[in-house]
Amino acid sequence: MLKTLDQLQEKESAIILKVKGKGAFRHRIVEMGFVAGTKVTSLKKAPLQNPVDYALMGYNVSLRQEEAALIEVISEADYQQQIQKASYNGVSENKEKSFAVADKTPIFNKNTHLRVALVGNPNCGKTTLFNFASHSRERVGNYSGVTVGAKSARFKQEGWTFDIVDLPGTYSITHYSPEELFVKDFIINEQPDVVINVIDASNLERNLYLTTQLIDMGVKVVVALNMYDELQDRGDVLDFEHLGKMIGIPMVPTVAYKGKGIKDLFSTVITVGQGKHPYLRPVKINYGQEVETHISDLQSLLSTYVFKPFVPKGSSKRNIAIKLLEGDTTGLPNEALPLVKDMVSKASHTLEKDFGQSTDTIIADARYAFIKGALQECLQLADGSKPAILNTIDKILLNKILSLPIFLGFMWLMFWATFTVGAYPMDWIDQGVGALGGFIEQFMPDGILKDMLIEGVIGGVGGVIIFLPNILILFLFISLMEDTGYMARVAFIMDRVMHKIGLHGGSFIPLMMGFGCNVPAIMATRTVQNRNDRLLTMLINPFMSCSARLPVYILFIGAFFPDNPSTVLFSIYLMGILLAALIAIVFKKILFRTQESPFVMELPPYRIPTLRNVLKHMWFKASQYLKKMGGIILIASIIIWALTYFPVNHTYSKDYDALIAQQETLLVEVQDMATEIQIETAMEELAQAQAAEHQENSYLGRIGKTIEPAMQPLGFDWKMSVALLAGASAKEIVVSTLGVLYQTEGSEDSPMLEERLKEARYSSGSKKGQKVFDPIISFAFLIFVLIYFPCIATVAAIKKESGSWKWAGFMMVYTTALAWILAFVINVVGHLI
Ligand code: GDP
Ligand code: MG
Repeated sequence: MLKTLDQLQEKESAIILKVKGKGAFRHRIVEMGFVAGTKVTSLKKAPLQNPVDYALMGYNVSLRQEEAALIEVISEADYQQQIQKASYNGVSENKEKSFAVADKTPIFNKNTHLRVALVGNPNCGKTTLFNFASHSRERVGNYSGVTVGAKSARFKQEGWTFDIVDLPGTYSITHYSPEELFVKDFIINEQPDVVINVIDASNLERNLYLTTQLIDMGVKVVVALNMYDELQDRGDVLDFEHLGKMIGIPMVPTVAYKGKGIKDLFSTVITVGQGKHPYLRPVKINYGQEVETHISDLQSLLSTYVFKPFVPKGSSKRNIAIKLLEGDTTGLPNEALPLVKDMVSKASHTLEKDFGQSTDTIIADARYAFIKGALQECLQLADGSKPAILNTIDKILLNKILSLPIFLGFMWLMFWATFTVGAYPMDWIDQGVGALGGFIEQFMPDGILKDMLIEGVIGGVGGVIIFLPNILILFLFISLMEDTGYMARVAFIMDRVMHKIGLHGGSFIPLMMGFGCNVPAIMATRTVQNRNDRLLTMLINPFMSCSARLPVYILFIGAFFPDNPSTVLFSIYLMGILLAALIAIVFKKILFRTQESPFVMELPPYRIPTLRNVLKHMWFKASQYLKKMGGIILIASIIIWALTYFPVNHTYSKDYDALIAQQETLLVEVQDMATEIQIETAMEELAQAQAAEHQENSYLGRIGKTIEPAMQPLGFDWKMSVALLAGASAKEIVVSTLGVLYQTEGSEDSPMLEERLKEARYSSGSKKGQKVFDPIISFAFLIFVLIYFPCIATVAAIKKESGSWKWAGFMMVYTTALAWILAFVINVVGHLI
């Protein structure tokens, strides 16, 4: 009986007959393995009923019910009766290409140098392999989209130099996502000597789909059968030698995270690079007689002299022909398209009529048939059921009632650890910084340099560096969530919620990454396929409070909310999330009124994160943070300090020096303790008043005074305004600026900025002399910091990813306006209550 996929009961299986729908949706579904003849099992619904988790080809993927409704299925028994099996047409020699003859211009010495690209599905372990091979520290994660853009590294083995590039993960190489285009362009334009196709060996069928496209492209490939440990643990047996011989591609089993097989892999790359490997031969996948006729017709057309200028050097004509039939025209420049249009549309028309399917589906089916046929000969599957423990974990984490509380609890734990556990090392660093300041104070001769070191460098950088432990803890949690596969589950859980704000679960991951840093998060939006959804995800991303804002929060919360720090911290983050949701709904209504894209996401298996990866990640973050300290924050601190230090010659309202000297003479004569203390206090107050007046007359003071009126309604004094202004370059600088500016507040014995903030008083305006901060104003300030102008790096990332200044500019303006309004409301309403 014919059904659609969404009608399957939990645990029910069926065979796919046909995928309806078109364009990007069908492409996406097909590349994930939803092709005719594939068995699919409905596993479980997400806690909020949608999406649904399905198993096919030995992996899990989640689909929304609306989308599942577009897939026609039929019971296994009926299928056996009615449908004949997809056939394996095998391979034949590809005469177009010959690997033995190098047809690429050697840039380096061909005998010692190889350029290698890593290509593979998301999550198959490319980055882990890349890191191990090159000993570099790239980010690794357990969901699609961590690697966006290419990372390269150089290393040596057996006297050869390798330049390896870690390309973004893709399920296929066509023209549907920025990643796919990136990978395709890289292979065609950069012409790597060897492509390493990294494959998740525990999920061969789907992973080999990409391999079929590499075969079509006619490049030299070595397959790394990664995660071979998982294949073996499951008891599957793969005759990879036979498989490799059959498809003309050498295969090497690897376990990337243990470093197993990687030496062998690159030895094989060397023989393949030289064209010497016995298995290496150019093969042609046979797409069936009818399709092949059209391919060769197109190929002959492309071989005519007219196309000479149009066919990019190093790209296979057969591949261009196949792609054209699939509806992908990116293989040829636009000028050439009218020349092939007729032939392509005639061919597609005939094929569609004869097969009753669209051409790209016919070709995809043939690819999967090829894979199935090949695996039939080489792969023996053990009766594969997941270990029970993993099912239990999923049952709990994805439970209807428990999933959300667990997720929120986990988030709360993350903030608690960041704050409470982080406080200890923070104290140590603070004491170290204090000791350093004291040391310089004591042993360095007075002068500008000393002032700069103590007030500018130690006051500024020192104020920020103490937050390193907090940031490391935050990243520890984020990296644990990514590496275990929990992050992808969260996307699955949250899809329904994201749907409510017009996005889907896929946008959730970039948003979560925003808690670490908005810049990679914005780059990670590349995995969101629909352009409008991507833009929207980018625009709301800065509301995800990045780790650079953490120092500001911790400073103020420590000073003004000592009783319930985690709750306040949590509420700020939550507020960011709520705002993001609200803005998304509004923007979706006003700016992006379009159709939604399908939600098709792989649920990776749970993996135990390796200590090595987690430590590497943390070290990477720590060094990045320290670099930022030594760079932008150091420079900003010195500039801010200089702006407060100069001009040195200005007239004071009183002759402070004389007044202080006067008190000093009094001090000599006093006898009793009480008067002595009185005089000392008076002197201290005079010194402070002098310093404050100096600061106000400084260049920075003048800037601050100019913008102060705009910030007055929020209760912010000029120092806070200046700190916010300086914080536009990087938000940690808010803290370092406050550190330099509130130098004069409080007493000498409280070096902690926190203490000085508590003592800070307005130096001008109607509230002169009153304390600047109360819990309400500091909360308004924190909210302002959360929302206003994301840092310059984020703006640049948005400009780059959205392709225009329009969106970056829009972002700068609307966030700052919103920040002002909300801080105003908090200040006014807060003080009324
Ligand atoms: P990428 O998306 O292809 O770059 O994949 P990653 O390198 O980020 O790896 C995804 C996950 O797979 C990480 O949690 C790795 O620790 C894990 N992993 C990598 N290689 C292996 C392997 O050979 N065996 C197993 N069991 N896990 C692996
Ligand atoms: Mg990666």
